[in-house]
Amino acid sequence: MPPSSHRRFPGRRRLALVTTGLVTAAGLGVLPFATRADARAADLAHATLAARDGWASSGSGTTGGQAADAAHDFTVTTRAELVKALRAGPSGAPRIIRVKGRIDANTDDQGRPLGCADYAKGTGYALAAYLKAYDPAVWGRSRLPAGVHESARATAQAKQAERIAITVPSNTTVVGVPGTDAGINGGSLLVQKADNVIIRNLTFADTRDCFPQWDPTDGSEGNWNSAYDAVTLRGATHVWVDHNTFTDSPHFDASNPRHFGREYQVHDGALDITNASDLVTVSYNRFTDHDKTMLIGSSDRDTKLRVTLHHNVFQGIVQRAPLARVGQVHLYNNHFDTTPRNGYHHSYSVNARAGVQIVAQNNHWTLASGRKASQLLSGDGTGAVAGSGNMVNGSVTDLVAAHNAANKKKIKPGTTWKPTLTRGLEPSAQGLPESLSRSAGAGVLK
Ligand code: CA
Ligand code: CA
Repeated sequence: MPPSSHRRFPGRRRLALVTTGLVTAAGLGVLPFATRADARAADLAHATLAARDGWASSGSGTTGGQAADAAHDFTVTTRAELVKALRAGPSGAPRIIRVKGRIDANTDDQGRPLGCADYAKGTGYALAAYLKAYDPAVWGRSRLPAGVHESARATAQAKQAERIAITVPSNTTVVGVPGTDAGINGGSLLVQKADNVIIRNLTFADTRDCFPQWDPTDGSEGNWNSAYDAVTLRGATHVWVDHNTFTDSPHFDASNPRHFGREYQVHDGALDITNASDLVTVSYNRFTDHDKTMLIGSSDRDTKLRVTLHHNVFQGIVQRAPLARVGQVHLYNNHFDTTPRNGYHHSYSVNARAGVQIVAQNNHWTLASGRKASQLLSGDGTGAVAGSGNMVNGSVTDLVAAHNAANKKKIKPGTTWKPTLTRGLEPSAQGLPESLSRSAGAGVLK
Protein backbone atom coordinates (compact mmCIF):
# COMPACT_ATOMS: atom_id res chain seq x y z
CA MET A 1 0.00 0.00 0.00
CA PRO A 2 1.75 3.20 -1.13
CA PRO A 3 1.65 6.16 1.29
CA SER A 4 -0.26 8.26 -1.26
CA SER A 5 -3.29 6.00 -0.84
CA HIS A 6 -3.25 6.69 2.87
CA ARG A 7 -3.33 10.40 2.18
CA ARG A 8 -6.24 10.02 -0.19
CA PHE A 9 -8.27 7.84 2.14
CA PRO A 10 -7.40 8.71 5.72
CA GLY A 11 -10.15 6.44 7.06
CA ARG A 12 -8.12 3.37 6.31
CA ARG A 13 -5.05 4.58 8.18
CA ARG A 14 -7.13 5.19 11.31
CA LEU A 15 -8.57 1.72 11.28
CA ALA A 16 -5.21 0.12 10.70
CA LEU A 17 -4.04 1.95 13.83
CA VAL A 18 -7.08 0.79 15.75
CA THR A 19 -6.36 -2.84 15.06
CA THR A 20 -2.78 -2.43 16.17
CA GLY A 21 -3.86 -0.36 19.19
CA LEU A 22 -6.35 -2.94 20.39
CA VAL A 23 -3.81 -5.69 20.33
CA THR A 24 -0.77 -3.88 21.69
CA ALA A 25 -2.63 -1.39 23.94
CA ALA A 26 -0.40 1.18 22.27
CA GLY A 27 -2.01 4.15 23.97
CA LEU A 28 -5.10 6.11 24.85
CA GLY A 29 -4.62 8.23 21.73
CA VAL A 30 -6.42 5.69 19.53
CA LEU A 31 -9.28 4.91 21.88
CA PRO A 32 -11.92 7.06 20.16
CA PHE A 33 -11.37 5.07 16.98
CA ALA A 34 -11.44 1.81 18.87
CA THR A 35 -14.85 2.74 20.22
CA ARG A 36 -16.09 3.38 16.71
CA ALA A 37 -14.69 0.09 15.50
CA ASP A 38 -16.35 -1.77 18.36
CA ALA A 39 -19.71 -0.24 17.51
CA ARG A 40 -19.31 -1.51 13.96
CA ALA A 41 -18.00 -4.92 14.92
CA ALA A 42 -21.44 -6.44 14.57
CA ASP A 43 -21.73 -5.11 11.02
CA LEU A 44 -20.27 -7.66 8.63
CA ALA A 45 -19.90 -5.09 5.85
CA HIS A 46 -17.56 -2.91 7.92
CA ALA A 47 -15.48 -5.73 9.37
CA THR A 48 -11.72 -5.66 8.80
CA LEU A 49 -9.07 -8.36 9.00
CA ALA A 50 -7.84 -8.82 12.58
CA ALA A 51 -4.24 -8.14 13.53
CA ARG A 52 -1.83 -11.03 12.85
CA ASP A 53 -4.47 -12.92 10.87
CA GLY A 54 -2.18 -14.25 8.19
CA TRP A 55 -0.19 -12.58 5.42
CA ALA A 56 -2.99 -10.11 4.51
CA SER A 57 -2.59 -8.53 7.98
CA SER A 58 0.98 -7.54 7.10
CA GLY A 59 1.92 -3.84 6.95
CA SER A 60 -1.12 -1.63 6.48
CA GLY A 61 -3.42 -4.64 6.92
CA THR A 62 -6.65 -5.34 5.05
CA THR A 63 -9.64 -3.10 5.68
CA GLY A 64 -11.44 -3.35 2.30
CA GLY A 65 -14.24 -0.81 1.98
CA GLN A 66 -14.50 -0.18 5.72
CA ALA A 67 -14.08 3.60 5.26
CA ALA A 68 -16.76 3.86 2.53
CA ASP A 69 -19.02 6.90 2.70
CA ALA A 70 -22.80 6.53 2.25
CA ALA A 71 -22.49 7.20 -1.49
CA HIS A 72 -20.23 4.15 -1.87
CA ASP A 73 -22.23 1.70 0.25
CA PHE A 74 -24.29 -0.41 -2.16
CA THR A 75 -26.76 -3.27 -1.88
CA VAL A 76 -27.03 -5.20 -5.15
CA THR A 77 -29.30 -8.00 -6.34
CA THR A 78 -28.44 -8.29 -10.07
CA ARG A 79 -25.33 -8.47 -12.25
CA ALA A 80 -26.09 -5.03 -13.69
CA GLU A 81 -26.30 -3.50 -10.20
CA LEU A 82 -23.13 -5.28 -9.11
CA VAL A 83 -21.11 -4.01 -12.07
CA LYS A 84 -22.50 -0.48 -11.70
CA ALA A 85 -21.62 -0.40 -7.99
CA LEU A 86 -18.07 -1.62 -8.64
CA ARG A 87 -17.53 1.15 -11.23
CA ALA A 88 -19.31 4.04 -9.46
CA GLY A 89 -17.19 7.06 -8.51
CA PRO A 90 -13.40 7.21 -8.55
CA SER A 91 -11.65 3.84 -8.78
CA GLY A 92 -10.02 3.16 -5.43
CA ALA A 93 -12.60 5.05 -3.37
CA PRO A 94 -13.49 2.84 -0.39
CA ARG A 95 -16.66 0.94 -1.29
CA ILE A 96 -18.91 -1.66 0.24
CA ILE A 97 -20.90 -4.01 -2.00
CA ARG A 98 -23.57 -5.96 -0.16
CA VAL A 99 -24.76 -8.86 -2.31
CA LYS A 100 -28.33 -9.81 -1.50
CA GLY A 101 -29.43 -13.22 -2.74
CA ARG A 102 -27.93 -15.05 -5.69
CA ILE A 103 -26.72 -13.05 -8.70
CA ASP A 104 -26.64 -14.74 -12.09
CA ALA A 105 -23.62 -13.44 -14.01
CA ASN A 106 -24.93 -14.78 -17.31
CA THR A 107 -27.59 -12.08 -17.69
CA ASP A 108 -27.99 -9.03 -19.89
CA ASP A 109 -28.42 -5.46 -18.63
CA GLN A 110 -32.16 -6.04 -18.30
CA GLY A 111 -31.60 -9.16 -16.20
CA ARG A 112 -32.56 -11.63 -18.93
CA PRO A 113 -30.62 -14.91 -18.77
CA LEU A 114 -27.96 -15.49 -21.44
CA GLY A 115 -26.94 -18.94 -22.64
CA CYS A 116 -23.92 -20.12 -24.60
CA ALA A 117 -25.92 -19.79 -27.86
CA ASP A 118 -26.49 -16.10 -27.12
CA TYR A 119 -22.75 -15.46 -26.87
CA ALA A 120 -22.05 -17.52 -30.00
CA LYS A 121 -24.68 -15.65 -32.04
CA GLY A 122 -23.11 -13.64 -34.87
CA THR A 123 -19.58 -14.97 -34.23
CA GLY A 124 -19.73 -17.91 -36.62
CA TYR A 125 -18.76 -20.29 -33.79
CA ALA A 126 -20.20 -23.79 -33.78
CA LEU A 127 -18.74 -26.63 -31.72
CA ALA A 128 -19.38 -29.19 -34.47
CA ALA A 129 -17.34 -27.17 -36.98
CA TYR A 130 -14.62 -26.56 -34.39
CA LEU A 131 -14.35 -30.30 -33.68
CA LYS A 132 -14.19 -31.06 -37.42
CA ALA A 133 -11.45 -28.49 -38.06
CA TYR A 134 -9.15 -29.37 -35.16
CA ASP A 135 -9.61 -33.12 -34.97
CA PRO A 136 -6.06 -34.42 -34.39
CA ALA A 137 -6.57 -36.74 -37.39
CA VAL A 138 -6.93 -33.62 -39.56
CA TRP A 139 -5.05 -30.85 -37.71
CA GLY A 140 -2.35 -32.91 -36.06
CA ARG A 141 -1.07 -32.54 -32.52
CA SER A 142 1.88 -30.19 -32.85
CA ARG A 143 0.24 -26.76 -33.12
CA LEU A 144 -2.54 -24.82 -31.43
CA PRO A 145 -5.83 -24.35 -33.28
CA ALA A 146 -5.71 -21.34 -35.59
CA GLY A 147 -7.86 -19.92 -38.35
CA VAL A 148 -11.50 -19.07 -38.80
CA HIS A 149 -12.99 -21.53 -36.31
CA GLU A 150 -10.52 -20.67 -33.56
CA SER A 151 -11.06 -16.94 -34.20
CA ALA A 152 -14.81 -17.47 -33.92
CA ARG A 153 -14.33 -19.34 -30.65
CA ALA A 154 -12.16 -16.54 -29.25
CA THR A 155 -14.72 -13.91 -30.29
CA ALA A 156 -17.55 -15.81 -28.62
CA GLN A 157 -15.43 -16.32 -25.51
CA ALA A 158 -14.68 -12.60 -25.33
CA LYS A 159 -18.42 -11.89 -25.46
CA GLN A 160 -18.99 -14.15 -22.47
CA ALA A 161 -16.00 -12.68 -20.62
CA GLU A 162 -17.46 -9.22 -21.03
CA ARG A 163 -20.52 -10.46 -19.09
CA ILE A 164 -19.13 -12.76 -16.42
CA ALA A 165 -15.60 -11.49 -15.62
CA ILE A 166 -16.22 -8.73 -13.10
CA THR A 167 -13.36 -6.52 -11.91
CA VAL A 168 -13.08 -5.53 -8.25
CA PRO A 169 -11.08 -2.31 -7.61
CA SER A 170 -8.88 -1.41 -4.61
CA ASN A 171 -10.35 -0.65 -1.17
CA THR A 172 -13.49 -2.75 -1.69
CA THR A 173 -15.47 -5.12 0.49
CA VAL A 174 -17.82 -7.52 -1.33
CA VAL A 175 -19.94 -9.29 1.26
CA GLY A 176 -23.03 -11.47 1.20
CA VAL A 177 -26.02 -10.22 3.20
CA PRO A 178 -26.60 -12.85 5.91
CA GLY A 179 -29.69 -15.00 5.56
CA THR A 180 -30.12 -14.42 1.80
CA ASP A 181 -28.09 -17.32 0.33
CA ALA A 182 -25.91 -14.60 -1.18
CA GLY A 183 -23.56 -15.38 -4.01
CA ILE A 184 -22.75 -15.35 -7.69
CA ASN A 185 -23.68 -18.07 -10.17
CA GLY A 186 -21.47 -18.42 -13.22
CA GLY A 187 -19.35 -15.35 -12.45
CA SER A 188 -15.64 -14.63 -12.10
CA LEU A 189 -14.49 -11.90 -9.70
CA LEU A 190 -11.18 -10.48 -10.90
CA VAL A 191 -8.92 -8.60 -8.50
CA GLN A 192 -6.16 -7.34 -10.78
CA LYS A 193 -3.33 -5.04 -9.70
CA ALA A 194 -5.59 -3.89 -6.86
CA ASP A 195 -4.86 -3.55 -3.13
CA ASN A 196 -6.96 -3.99 -0.01
CA VAL A 197 -9.95 -6.16 -0.95
CA ILE A 198 -12.25 -8.27 1.24
CA ILE A 199 -14.51 -11.02 -0.18
CA ARG A 200 -16.78 -12.69 2.41
CA ASN A 201 -19.89 -14.77 2.91
CA LEU A 202 -20.58 -15.55 -0.74
CA THR A 203 -21.33 -18.77 -2.62
CA PHE A 204 -19.59 -19.01 -5.98
CA ALA A 205 -21.36 -21.64 -8.07
CA ASP A 206 -20.57 -23.18 -11.44
CA THR A 207 -18.28 -20.61 -13.03
CA ARG A 208 -18.35 -22.14 -16.51
CA ASP A 209 -16.71 -21.35 -19.85
CA CYS A 210 -19.05 -21.83 -22.83
CA PHE A 211 -16.05 -21.98 -25.17
CA PRO A 212 -13.23 -24.26 -23.96
CA GLN A 213 -10.11 -24.20 -26.12
CA TRP A 214 -8.46 -27.34 -27.47
CA ASP A 215 -4.72 -27.50 -26.83
CA PRO A 216 -3.20 -30.63 -28.41
CA THR A 217 0.21 -29.72 -26.92
CA ASP A 218 -1.00 -29.69 -23.28
CA GLY A 219 0.19 -33.01 -21.84
CA SER A 220 0.67 -36.16 -23.88
CA GLU A 221 -2.96 -36.40 -25.04
CA GLY A 222 -3.98 -32.72 -25.26
CA ASN A 223 -6.48 -30.91 -23.06
CA TRP A 224 -9.58 -28.77 -23.22
CA ASN A 225 -8.90 -25.62 -21.18
CA SER A 226 -11.34 -23.11 -19.81
CA ALA A 227 -10.81 -19.50 -18.88
CA TYR A 228 -12.55 -18.49 -15.65
CA ASP A 229 -11.92 -18.99 -11.96
CA ALA A 230 -14.70 -18.10 -9.51
CA VAL A 231 -12.21 -15.65 -7.98
CA THR A 232 -8.92 -14.65 -9.63
CA LEU A 233 -6.20 -12.58 -7.94
CA ARG A 234 -3.61 -11.21 -10.38
CA GLY A 235 -1.01 -8.81 -9.05
CA ALA A 236 -3.36 -8.30 -6.09
CA THR A 237 -2.15 -7.37 -2.59
CA HIS A 238 -3.79 -7.36 0.84
CA VAL A 239 -6.73 -9.60 0.00
CA TRP A 240 -8.86 -11.43 2.57
CA VAL A 241 -11.08 -14.20 1.20
CA ASP A 242 -13.18 -15.50 4.08
CA HIS A 243 -16.22 -17.67 4.77
CA ASN A 244 -17.12 -18.31 1.13
CA THR A 245 -18.31 -21.52 -0.53
CA PHE A 246 -16.94 -22.58 -3.92
CA THR A 247 -18.73 -25.30 -5.87
CA ASP A 248 -19.28 -26.62 -9.40
CA SER A 249 -22.85 -27.50 -8.43
CA PRO A 250 -25.19 -27.88 -10.24
CA HIS A 251 -22.90 -28.72 -13.20
CA PHE A 252 -20.54 -31.44 -12.00
CA ASP A 253 -17.58 -32.45 -14.16
CA ALA A 254 -19.01 -35.98 -14.47
CA SER A 255 -21.54 -34.52 -16.92
CA ASN A 256 -18.84 -33.05 -19.18
CA PRO A 257 -18.69 -34.85 -22.54
CA ARG A 258 -15.41 -36.04 -24.06
CA HIS A 259 -14.04 -34.81 -27.36
CA PHE A 260 -10.87 -36.11 -29.00
CA GLY A 261 -10.79 -38.63 -26.14
CA ARG A 262 -10.35 -35.91 -23.52
CA GLU A 263 -12.74 -34.37 -21.00
CA TYR A 264 -14.41 -31.23 -22.36
CA GLN A 265 -13.53 -29.27 -19.20
CA VAL A 266 -15.73 -26.20 -18.75
CA HIS A 267 -14.36 -25.18 -15.32
CA ASP A 268 -10.99 -23.64 -14.47
CA GLY A 269 -9.88 -22.69 -10.93
CA ALA A 270 -11.99 -21.94 -7.86
CA LEU A 271 -9.57 -19.37 -6.39
CA ASP A 272 -6.37 -18.69 -8.35
CA ILE A 273 -3.72 -16.42 -6.79
CA THR A 274 -1.17 -15.54 -9.50
CA ASN A 275 1.00 -12.97 -11.29
CA ALA A 276 2.92 -11.64 -8.27
CA SER A 277 -0.09 -11.47 -5.99
CA ASP A 278 1.03 -11.03 -2.39
CA LEU A 279 -0.19 -10.79 1.21
CA VAL A 280 -3.33 -12.90 0.96
CA THR A 281 -5.32 -14.58 3.75
CA VAL A 282 -7.79 -17.32 2.79
CA SER A 283 -9.80 -18.42 5.84
CA TYR A 284 -12.89 -20.43 6.72
CA ASN A 285 -13.85 -21.14 3.10
CA ARG A 286 -15.47 -24.32 1.84
CA PHE A 287 -14.06 -25.65 -1.43
CA THR A 288 -16.28 -28.42 -2.78
CA ASP A 289 -16.82 -30.54 -5.87
CA HIS A 290 -14.10 -29.13 -8.09
CA ASP A 291 -11.03 -30.27 -10.03
CA LYS A 292 -8.37 -27.53 -10.40
CA THR A 293 -9.04 -25.78 -7.11
CA MET A 294 -6.31 -23.26 -6.28
CA LEU A 295 -3.16 -22.09 -8.02
CA ILE A 296 -0.67 -20.07 -6.03
CA GLY A 297 1.53 -18.89 -8.91
CA SER A 298 0.75 -19.55 -12.57
CA SER A 299 4.30 -20.19 -13.76
CA ASP A 300 7.64 -21.17 -12.27
CA ARG A 301 8.79 -17.58 -12.92
CA ASP A 302 6.00 -16.01 -10.87
CA THR A 303 7.06 -13.87 -7.86
CA LYS A 304 5.98 -12.85 -4.32
CA LEU A 305 2.97 -15.08 -3.48
CA ARG A 306 2.89 -14.90 0.32
CA VAL A 307 -0.40 -16.59 1.22
CA THR A 308 -1.99 -17.92 4.42
CA LEU A 309 -4.66 -20.64 4.25
CA HIS A 310 -6.36 -21.51 7.52
CA HIS A 311 -9.58 -23.17 8.68
CA ASN A 312 -10.68 -24.04 5.14
CA VAL A 313 -12.51 -27.23 4.17
CA PHE A 314 -11.64 -29.11 0.96
CA GLN A 315 -14.26 -31.69 0.06
CA GLY A 316 -14.77 -33.45 -3.27
CA ILE A 317 -11.57 -31.84 -4.58
CA VAL A 318 -9.47 -33.55 -7.26
CA GLN A 319 -6.24 -31.51 -7.12
CA ARG A 320 -4.47 -28.17 -6.47
CA ALA A 321 -5.51 -27.57 -2.87
CA PRO A 322 -3.32 -25.67 -3.46
CA LEU A 323 -0.74 -26.09 -6.22
CA ALA A 324 1.85 -23.64 -4.89
CA ARG A 325 4.92 -22.13 -6.52
CA VAL A 326 7.70 -19.77 -5.51
CA GLY A 327 6.24 -18.05 -2.42
CA GLN A 328 5.89 -18.46 1.34
CA VAL A 329 2.69 -20.30 2.13
CA HIS A 330 1.28 -20.97 5.60
CA LEU A 331 -1.25 -23.76 5.78
CA TYR A 332 -2.82 -24.41 9.18
CA ASN A 333 -5.93 -25.94 10.70
CA ASN A 334 -7.46 -26.91 7.34
CA HIS A 335 -9.54 -30.05 6.78
CA PHE A 336 -9.05 -32.10 3.61
CA ASP A 337 -11.69 -34.77 3.06
CA THR A 338 -10.57 -37.09 0.26
CA THR A 339 -13.85 -39.05 0.14
CA PRO A 340 -15.21 -39.19 -3.45
CA ARG A 341 -18.18 -36.87 -3.89
CA ASN A 342 -20.49 -36.23 -6.83
CA GLY A 343 -18.09 -37.96 -9.20
CA TYR A 344 -14.96 -36.08 -8.04
CA HIS A 345 -12.08 -38.38 -7.10
CA HIS A 346 -9.09 -37.16 -5.11
CA SER A 347 -5.75 -37.10 -6.93
CA TYR A 348 -3.56 -35.20 -4.42
CA SER A 349 -4.05 -32.25 -2.08
CA VAL A 350 -0.98 -29.99 -1.88
CA ASN A 351 1.53 -29.61 -4.71
CA ALA A 352 4.84 -27.93 -3.75
CA ARG A 353 6.90 -26.77 -6.72
CA ALA A 354 9.21 -24.07 -8.12
CA GLY A 355 10.96 -23.63 -4.80
CA VAL A 356 7.84 -22.82 -2.77
CA GLN A 357 8.29 -22.80 1.01
CA ILE A 358 5.20 -24.20 2.71
CA VAL A 359 4.69 -24.42 6.47
CA ALA A 360 1.85 -26.88 7.21
CA GLN A 361 0.68 -27.06 10.82
CA ASN A 362 -2.10 -29.04 12.45
CA ASN A 363 -4.13 -29.82 9.35
CA HIS A 364 -6.44 -32.84 9.23
CA TRP A 365 -6.85 -35.27 6.32
CA THR A 366 -9.80 -37.62 6.19
CA LEU A 367 -8.46 -40.47 4.06
CA ALA A 368 -10.94 -42.39 1.97
CA SER A 369 -10.49 -46.14 1.82
CA GLY A 370 -8.01 -47.04 -0.89
CA ARG A 371 -6.14 -43.71 -0.56
CA LYS A 372 -2.73 -43.49 1.12
CA ALA A 373 -0.91 -40.88 3.20
CA SER A 374 1.77 -40.88 0.49
CA GLN A 375 -0.79 -39.46 -1.99
CA LEU A 376 -1.60 -36.23 -0.13
CA LEU A 377 1.42 -34.20 -1.24
CA SER A 378 2.94 -33.80 -4.68
CA GLY A 379 5.84 -31.83 -6.13
CA ASP A 380 8.52 -31.29 -8.75
CA GLY A 381 11.42 -31.96 -6.40
CA THR A 382 12.15 -28.28 -5.59
CA GLY A 383 9.38 -27.39 -3.13
CA ALA A 384 9.64 -27.56 0.66
CA VAL A 385 7.02 -28.47 3.27
CA ALA A 386 7.81 -27.99 6.98
CA GLY A 387 5.55 -28.08 10.01
CA SER A 388 4.07 -30.56 12.40
CA GLY A 389 0.86 -31.80 13.96
CA ASN A 390 -0.73 -32.86 10.68
CA MET A 391 -3.19 -35.69 11.13
CA VAL A 392 -4.47 -38.44 8.90
CA ASN A 393 -7.70 -39.96 10.20
CA GLY A 394 -6.90 -38.72 13.71
CA SER A 395 -3.26 -39.84 13.87
CA VAL A 396 -0.34 -37.42 13.66
CA THR A 397 1.48 -38.28 10.43
CA ASP A 398 4.69 -37.03 8.82
CA LEU A 399 3.30 -36.29 5.36
CA VAL A 400 6.67 -35.44 3.83
CA ALA A 401 8.22 -38.69 5.03
CA ALA A 402 5.20 -40.64 3.72
CA HIS A 403 5.46 -38.88 0.35
CA ASN A 404 9.22 -39.20 0.04
CA ALA A 405 9.19 -42.92 0.88
CA ALA A 406 6.88 -43.60 -2.06
CA ASN A 407 7.81 -40.99 -4.69
CA LYS A 408 10.86 -40.28 -6.78
CA LYS A 409 10.54 -36.49 -6.70
CA LYS A 410 11.21 -35.65 -3.06
CA ILE A 411 9.78 -32.79 -1.03
CA LYS A 412 12.30 -30.88 1.09
CA PRO A 413 11.39 -31.23 4.78
CA GLY A 414 12.57 -27.78 6.01
CA THR A 415 11.72 -24.19 5.08
CA THR A 416 13.72 -20.96 5.02
CA TRP A 417 11.09 -18.96 6.92
CA LYS A 418 8.87 -19.20 10.00
CA PRO A 419 5.34 -17.78 10.11
CA THR A 420 4.78 -14.92 12.54
CA LEU A 421 1.37 -13.68 11.37
CA THR A 422 -0.71 -16.48 12.86
CA ARG A 423 -4.06 -16.10 14.56
CA GLY A 424 -6.10 -18.78 16.27
CA LEU A 425 -3.72 -21.67 15.58
CA GLU A 426 -5.38 -24.65 17.26
CA PRO A 427 -2.79 -26.85 18.96
CA SER A 428 -4.42 -30.05 17.74
CA ALA A 429 -6.05 -30.96 14.43
CA GLN A 430 -8.17 -33.60 16.17
CA GLY A 431 -11.48 -31.73 16.30
CA LEU A 432 -11.25 -29.87 12.97
CA PRO A 433 -13.51 -32.11 10.82
CA GLU A 434 -16.32 -31.60 13.29
CA SER A 435 -15.75 -27.92 14.18
CA LEU A 436 -15.16 -26.77 10.57
CA SER A 437 -18.31 -28.57 9.41
CA ARG A 438 -20.13 -25.87 11.37
CA SER A 439 -17.82 -22.86 11.09
CA ALA A 440 -16.54 -22.81 7.48
CA GLY A 441 -18.25 -21.63 4.32
CA ALA A 442 -20.90 -19.13 3.26
CA GLY A 443 -24.05 -18.71 5.34
CA VAL A 444 -22.28 -19.12 8.69
CA LEU A 445 -21.63 -15.44 9.43
CA LYS A 446 -24.55 -13.47 10.85
CA1 CA B 1 -6.47 -23.48 -17.03
CA1 CA C 1 -7.18 -19.79 -13.61
